[in-house]
Parts: sequence; structure tokens; C-alpha cells
Amino acid sequence: MKICLIGLNITNLILASVFLKKNLPVDIYQNNKIQRFKTKRTIAISAGNFSFLKKISNTNLQSWKTNEIKIYLENENSKEIINFKKQNKESFNLIKNSDLNNAFLKNIENSKIVKKIKEDIFSKRLINKIKKYDLVINSDNNNFITKNYFHNKIKKNYKSYAYTFIINHKKTNNRTARQIFTNYGPLAFLPLNNSKTSVVFSCSGNLRSAQDIYKLFKKYNTFYQNTKPGDIEKVSLEFSMLRKYTHKNILAFGDLLHRIHPLAGQGFNMTIRDIENFSKIVDKKISLGLPIDISVADEFQQNNKHLNYLYGKAIDGIYEFFRLDSKIKNSLSKPIFRILNNNSVFKKYSNLFSDKGINL
Ligand SMILES: Cc1cc2nc3c(=O)[nH]c(=O)nc-3n(C[C@H](O)[C@H](O)[C@H](O)COP(=O)(O)OP(=O)(O)OC[C@H]3O[C@@H](n4cnc5c(N)ncnc54)[C@H](O)[C@@H]3O)c2cc1C
Repeated sequence: MKICLIGLNITNLILASVFLKKNLPVDIYQNNKIQRFKTKRTIAISAGNFSFLKKISNTNLQSWKTNEIKIYLENENSKEIINFKKQNKESFNLIKNSDLNNAFLKNIENSKIVKKIKEDIFSKRLINKIKKYDLVINSDNNNFITKNYFHNKIKKNYKSYAYTFIINHKKTNNRTARQIFTNYGPLAFLPLNNSKTSVVFSCSGNLRSAQDIYKLFKKYNTFYQNTKPGDIEKVSLEFSMLRKYTHKNILAFGDLLHRIHPLAGQGFNMTIRDIENFSKIVDKKISLGLPIDISVADEFQQNNKHLNYLYGKAIDGIYEFFRLDSKIKNSLSKPIFRILNNNSVFKKYSNLFSDKGINL
């Protein structure tokens, strides 16, 4: 069985580790022209997803665990409107993208069955090169195949930018992730250790200067003292859902399938759940003595496409709810969340929704 992954990004590094665990050889086509996308972003990973990653990684994957998530509204940011607390289980595992990347790179580095191949992935010749494989997984957002066969998407432009930076601050017991729904958009504080926190500010409107962002951050920050903010990374935000997951022997994967607003920290969690579901289909085929080919991709698409769409739309619904709510001075969220904050069923299902998605 010949399997190929296009792109040396975090999605493919994890997929390669899944194949490695099953002793299935894979080739990874990596770009020979430009460097891999590097980000200073922090990624929040749910408890269930993190334990799946630990199972497939042979390295000692470390994270900073939060046990509580607090949600705040504009003008009320010293008292949370809702609080999600988990007993005996972390709410999120916080890990730098680069640390996750390096851990999974190390995982495959010394393997004899995972081969990295440098290739011009922008060239039309890529089509001929991948014909020999039974299954090709393309997780790369920018190559010849993506541009020509995986561009038909349901899209929405949030007309917002996400500004990400890390703050150093006075030591504190830092086990609570926080999000304020400000009039500009959601502002998240994701702890990395007792004196370091990652900030993600999804701010509507045109691109703002670093000085503007630091000023807004100071206005809303009532949680950390003596803050020293680092450099800002910015990305324009969009929602996108791919209409068709497959083309010939190729399956699209990762952010290429679904891209959602970062307000719930769920984009990559969706991909991890996809990888786990994909892995189960592969196991089933192996146990039946069936080949690992495009039929795996077809089954994956059939089982997951509608769930991914619904999940992505639900996150978009949360974004739209708070956008409307901030225009009418939180007159929807205040009464609703006062009731929901005391409702254990709502909290249980919110926790499950962020940990396991819709496929409960
Ligand atoms: C500011 C921000 C914070 C995030 N935080 C979390 C988190 O806490 N937990 C989590 O599970 N996922 C989060 N994500 C999503 C996560 O970063 C991506 O799913 C992941 O990096 C994709 O990795 P990859 O290897 O598939 O793709 P790569 O090849 O590494 O690149 C994916 C590209 O897509 C961009 N991107 C991702 N989402 C969007 C979007 N909505 N609009 C525009 N561009 C986007 C990334 O910036 C990157 O350039 C966040 C995304 C953004 C933009």
C-alpha cells in the first residue's frame, strides 16, 4: 500500500505518526521552495484530544493545563457571566504550536518507513508524481492540487483580524483560561505557565497598529500585573468549508476542509477529531484485510462532512450571537447566561461539545 501526504505541517506530522503507529509506510511531500509556515500561536487542545495525541506520540508531550474557563462581557470584565469548571479533568491543554510541531517532527524523524521528499508542490508535475499512490492526503493550503481541485468552498469573511502575542507578567496561579466578548470582538487569555500567557484578540475592522492593540489590551486586562507584551502576529479571519473532500485518489484534510473563527479554540481540535475518526476507519479496513485506498477517504467524507459543517456553523452562530449582543449592550447574553451559569446540564453538554464535537 502506498500512501502519500502533501505538506509538512502539524496536521500531516500527526497523520504520519498515526500511520507509523500502524506500521504503514508513508511519503511526505514537502515544499522545496519556501520554508514551512512558522507561528508563535498557542493552541488550546481539549482533554480528550490531548490524550489521543499522547497515545500516538512516542515523545513526552507536555502542556499547561487549565481547569476553568471564564467568560466575561464588555464593561463587566471583573465578574464573569459564565464559568466552566471541570472536576478532576483539565478544561484545556495549552501548548505552543512550535512545541507541538517539534514533538511530532521528532516522532517521525528517525523512522525508516516515513520518508520526507522535497518536491516542487506548485508545479503541475505534482499530478503525475502522486498517481502511483493508493491514497494521497493533502493538508497543504497552497499548492497546485489545492488551487486546482480543492477551491470550491462555502466561505465567509469575518472582516476581522486575529492579533496574537505572548505576555510576560507577575507570577500568579495561572490555571484559568478567560475570554472577554468586547465591543471589538473576542479577547482570549490562554495561560502558558504562571508568568506567561498567550493573548488572542479577534478584532473587527481594518488592520490596526501594534500600539492600538496594546492599548486595547491594557484597557481590558484586569487579570495580570506588570505585563510585558511580545511581538504581534496577525491573520485575517475567515470561515470556510470545503464542498467536496476528495478528488481522484486525493483526500483533502486539516484547515483545507474547515476553517473557523478562533473564538472557541476549536479549529485544530476539529482536525484532531477528524484524524481519530480517520484512524478508526483505517483500523477497520486493516482488520477486514481491505486495502488502504480512496475508499477510506470516501467513508471518511460520508461520516464526517455533515458533522464538521454543523460544528463549524455552531461556532459561527456563537460569533454572530455575541456580535449582535454587543450592539444591543448585552441585553441578550446577560439574562440568558445568568440562568445557564447555574444549569449543570448546559455546562455538561458545553464541555462535551468542546471535547468530543457533535459525534458524541
Ligand atoms: C488566531 C488563531 C488562533 C487559533 N487558536 C486555536 C486553538 O486555540 N485551538 C485550536 O484547536 N485551533 C486554533 N486555531 C486553528 C489552528 O491554528 C489551525 O487549525 C492549525 O494551525 C492548522 O494547522 P495545519 O497544519 O492544518 O495548517 P498550516 O499549514 O499550519 O496552516 C494553516 C493556516 O491557516 C490559518 N488559519 C487558521 N484558521 C484560520 C481562520 N479562521 N481564518 C484565517 N486563517 C486561518 C493559519 O493562520 C495558517 O496560516 C487558531 C487559529 C487562529 C487563526
